[in-house]
Amino acid sequence: MPDLRILVTNDDGIEAPGIEALEEIAHRISDDVWTIAPDLNNSGAAHSLTLRRPLRYRHRGEQRFSVDGTPTDCVLLGLQHLIPGKPVDLVLSGVNHGSNIGEDVTYSGTIAAAMEATLFKTRAIAFSQVWRRQEEIDWSMALAQGPDLVARLMAMPWPDDVLMNVNFPDCAPERVKGVKVTEQGKRKLGDELVERLDPRGVPYVWIGLQREDDAWRDGTDIAAVNEGWISVTPIHLNMTHYPSLQVVEKALRR
Ligand code: MN
Repeated sequence: MPDLRILVTNDDGIEAPGIEALEEIAHRISDDVWTIAPDLNNSGAAHSLTLRRPLRYRHRGEQRFSVDGTPTDCVLLGLQHLIPGKPVDLVLSGVNHGSNIGEDVTYSGTIAAAMEATLFKTRAIAFSQVWRRQEEIDWSMALAQGPDLVARLMAMPWPDDVLMNVNFPDCAPERVKGVKVTEQGKRKLGDELVERLDPRGVPYVWIGLQREDDAWRDGTDIAAVNEGWISVTPIHLNMTHYPSLQVVEKALRR
């Protein structure tokens, strides 16, 4: 697909090794690759938009920019302002440093970038790499499997208002079991909040590690990556809980 116009972004920032891996994946698919990513790490930024200050962008090479904003800002600038001529066909976000499974989906800037693209009716895939030790993330699985996954997803009749959330398990590419299509799981029990004193003796709180339930259901993104599968979850932007419509309607009826 040499003419496919691809926009690459992430939430870990333009200098993160994960975006380098994703740019390589994109270049294996197409000759028309653009990169627009935050200049700093925006993990946990979710779908936030910068409205109360101007956005500055910087050239970072051919068809490459960084923005002093969020992943959502980057996609917005890409689809509406910085990329001239023909529209973007596909937005790839990531490869995130760490998983985006279960409740992560609601906090993730990586997923939010794909959400923003989906709002513009542009196909979007979020990629994340599970790790045990952050300093030793291995991108070889993403590089080995990414191009083929993108090609197969692009050949599918893509549903409206849906993005694809891909998570690579933490294992060598030759040991992966295959691809599993999964549903969003559930594991979060809260976060570990650490209170300490700053150098002036004033207390601060720092959000630490997520506390997790170690039981997870089969068929979920969490189960898949823990068992060595690549997880692909279709995520719908419309968050209405349809089974509740009648229940709430009945409760509020006079
Ligand atoms: Mn991140």
